[in-house]
Amino acid sequence: MKACVLEAVGKLVYKDVPTPEPKENEVLLKIKACGVCSSDIDRVFKTGTYNFPTIPGHEFCGEIVKAGSNVDSSMIGKKAVVFPLLPCNKCPSCEKENYAQCSNYNYFGSRCDGAFAEYLAAPVWNVLTFSDKVPFDHAAMCEPAAVAMHAVKLSELNKGDTICIVGTGTIGILCGLWAQKQGAKNIIFIGRNARKKQFIESLGFSNVLLDVDGLDAAIANITEGKGVDIAFECVGSNQAISTAIKSLKQKGRMILVGNPEGDISLARNIYWKILRSELDVKGAWNSKYSSKDNDWKDVLKAMEDNDLPFDKLITGRHNLSEADKAFDRLREKTIFTVKELFVNE
Ligand SMILES: [Zn+2]
Ligand SMILES: [Zn+2]
Repeated sequence: MKACVLEAVGKLVYKDVPTPEPKENEVLLKIKACGVCSSDIDRVFKTGTYNFPTIPGHEFCGEIVKAGSNVDSSMIGKKAVVFPLLPCNKCPSCEKENYAQCSNYNYFGSRCDGAFAEYLAAPVWNVLTFSDKVPFDHAAMCEPAAVAMHAVKLSELNKGDTICIVGTGTIGILCGLWAQKQGAKNIIFIGRNARKKQFIESLGFSNVLLDVDGLDAAIANITEGKGVDIAFECVGSNQAISTAIKSLKQKGRMILVGNPEGDISLARNIYWKILRSELDVKGAWNSKYSSKDNDWKDVLKAMEDNDLPFDKLITGRHNLSEADKAFDRLREKTIFTVKELFVNE
């Protein structure tokens, strides 16, 4: 099969590799769409994967084309998404079904081969099938949508809450969309890019602020001087975390979602605010995939009900053979992108 293989930092090669065979309790998927995550851009250009060579790609869906032993053959022909985390099933976190906290996991697209490829074999446990109502392009966004949904669930948002989202990447935008669906009243986005501001406004959000002078006054104006109930930090920078803390009301809650771009340090007066206002600070990591609370199932249900404007989030569709071009587009920050997909049609 053809795949894009990361052979070294900056060296993503489109080439022939052996097609995987589904083992016991596995199915083989023909990949139909795979999203590019901002973490993939870092993997390709900066940090690399855990080992080389590795096929990146963890936001994907496809059609089941082959079943390994011990698998119900009626799965063949079904459309499916794949939870990309392969838990050890032995550690205390796995025992509690907190798979995102597994101490010895494997991961499609970073620790083992992912879906910038024509085929991928995955354990049936990781596979969720979906109906014809959901297009493959949407289903490929199940992973970022589940990550955002998980963050919104952790925020314990109440109807009528005022919220602030710092960061206008895909996860930030999806947090805003889920929060809106949950009944958040005023949703304030804070970003740095005027084109993104325009885009988020086109989704129906009217309070999109640029992180410039006068931000505090603008937030005070929208919240009548009170500050927001919940802030989602979806960048992972000193400035974004400070902005999120500053936006909060007393006893407000901050959900940290963005991966840190480096060491985080806060000015003393910002830190004071966490203490004096008794802010509730929570980290959010990945998504929940347990028998009682499965963000992925909830996202697929919303996709079937056509609840969110997933179509509008797709800004580019590429063939795997054009991976270089697609990644250059993403690296070149002056080009407007939200979600770029690789598609096999
Ligand atoms: Zn991702
Ligand atoms: Zn584990």
